[in-house]
Amino acid sequence: MSDLSQWKPDDFIAGRVALDFANTMDNWLDPAKHRRLVETPDQLYDWLVYAGTLDRDEAKWCFEVDQVRGHGDRGLVIAAHALQDHIHTVFQDFAYRREPDPRCVSAIYESLARAVLHVKTGDIDPCTCNYLFEVLIDQPEGVLYPIAASAARLLLGEDKANIKECEGCGWLFLDQSKNKRRRWCEMKTCGNRAKARRFYQARKASEAA
Ligand SMILES: [Zn+2]
Repeated sequence: MSDLSQWKPDDFIAGRVALDFANTMDNWLDPAKHRRLVETPDQLYDWLVYAGTLDRDEAKWCFEVDQVRGHGDRGLVIAAHALQDHIHTVFQDFAYRREPDPRCVSAIYESLARAVLHVKTGDIDPCTCNYLFEVLIDQPEGVLYPIAASAARLLLGEDKANIKECEGCGWLFLDQSKNKRRRWCEMKTCGNRAKARRFYQARKASEAA
């Protein structure tokens, strides 16, 4: 696996690992144009390293185990995508004050129950709120643990009331601002685009008047 990451800090704006992982999709607002950004185990390990939940050596070793198993095994990626979809569905429901789909909630807990069999768990890192864990030897499936655990922790806590969906791109994030009025994943991208759009529409309206 390459030492160069495809990710950048702007990909991690959600405030929780589970939501950042849900956001690894382009064009959430347009189902016809959905494009997943994590499509191989390699990309998944790389994402986890960048998210600060997996050690780079551990990621390399997961990658090697995967290779030895002769994978291209889509199992891990399919499980990751299912988890991504469940997290997105459930927390989008919270963002819009809807009752979450109980099947998706159960699926998140089931993912956690499966992943936890493949790791040695530790405490929560107080700085990042990530779970500390070690993937057990020969069991790369454990890499989904921090994502599932982050989602379960959000489900069980009070923070979920502050989850929002970016009005510009559909990414989910935890609004940790003081006044709880954050509307954008990032002001410098979606926020500015919306401002420019409003400015353009207002100018057009005044020209037409
Ligand atoms: Zn956005």
